Amino acid sequence: MQMPTFEPPRLGEPYLLTPGPLTTSYEVKEAMLRDWGSWDGDFRAMTAELRARLVAMLGEGSDAFTCVPMQGSGSFSVEAMLGTLVPKHGKALVLANGAYGQRAADSLRYAVRAVEVLDKGDYLPPRGPEIAAILAADPAITHVVAIHCETSSGILNPIPEIAQAVEAAGRALLIDSMSAFGAIPLPPTQIRYQAIVSSANKCIEGVPGFGFVLVRTDALEAAKGNAHSLALDLYAQWATMEKTGQWRYTPPTHAVAAFLTALHAHEAEGGVPARGARYAANRDTLVAGMRGLGFETLLEDRWLSPIITTFFCPADPAFAFQPFYDGMKARGFIIYPGKLTEVDSFRLGHIGRMDSAVMARVVQAVAETLADMGVTDATPPAAALEERNKQAEAA
Ligand SMILES: *Cc1c(COP(=O)(O)O)cnc(C)c1O
Repeated sequence: MQMPTFEPPRLGEPYLLTPGPLTTSYEVKEAMLRDWGSWDGDFRAMTAELRARLVAMLGEGSDAFTCVPMQGSGSFSVEAMLGTLVPKHGKALVLANGAYGQRAADSLRYAVRAVEVLDKGDYLPPRGPEIAAILAADPAITHVVAIHCETSSGILNPIPEIAQAVEAAGRALLIDSMSAFGAIPLPPTQIRYQAIVSSANKCIEGVPGFGFVLVRTDALEAAKGNAHSLALDLYAQWATMEKTGQWRYTPPTHAVAAFLTALHAHEAEGGVPARGARYAANRDTLVAGMRGLGFETLLEDRWLSPIITTFFCPADPAFAFQPFYDGMKARGFIIYPGKLTEVDSFRLGHIGRMDSAVMARVVQAVAETLADMGVTDATPPAAALEERNKQAEAA
């Protein structure tokens, strides 16, 4: 398959190495240059197309699923999924290894659902046997919540292994695939789950404004009356959409139009496999280049995602995050601070309208910025590496 070639952002913007919002194509932005009536048949057709395309993206076995878009950022859709599918007297086990797992647990607490957290710290993956043991010991747990790519470290959690443990115990699996959906497949014929959630401004490369839940239709039908929130009632949103073709409350019309353009580009590129391959190539170029400069990744190769990578800050006393950030911005790249509690780190995202050629320029910009700062050695502190290697053994 031919790799797409990307022109740089036309409007003089920097590339966003922050997933997301992320760098979108000019065509996606251009699609927002008109107004749409929310009640009008043209917009209803756009909503129907969006829902059908997202369900189809699951591949074989997708006919058991329906798509419910929900206004707001991704967290609103996570909250709608959790508060609607976990019944009032249900109990959820959240598999946490970063900020998004913790947020899912917080959402459940706000919804007054019983919740237990398997907290693996900053970046260790939850493994099948430990999940099986918790589920065997606690028959009250009805749902397990997993994070597909935990964007706070970039770890790609082992969903197939998690799903197997959950299915074997007869519980339902809910997946936050926010930063992975559209680039990493979750084939329902091989991985059993009740619902997954993602948003417009991640791997589909749309603009922020809404998220969506892909849920087994029978599970959603059974969830009527569960929701703790009027606006975030996923069942009610779905029932209204099925009946009228409309969103329940004001839809993000421009973001929907942009998203449809992004969906067409996703298909033209070759769908999920091609999108995932481009992002993986981005990562490989970036990680090899950064290692060439002396940087080290937080994670071992087998846990690196194609979405975002965490690097340790150099031990060199001439290094500081803010001047590094400023130097990268001056060269056209917006980077992300780290989210680890123990060691200093930063993150570089590799999703969005970018290819390997852009990632090679990122590495070049890093080299130039370090030279400007007088950093001669990008090696991380020995203590950070020691801790990482100790943790890796435990995983
Ligand atoms: C982006 C993201 C979310 C949602 O974050 P919002 O800021 O609400 O859009 C949730 N989970 C993961 C794993 C994410 O990457």
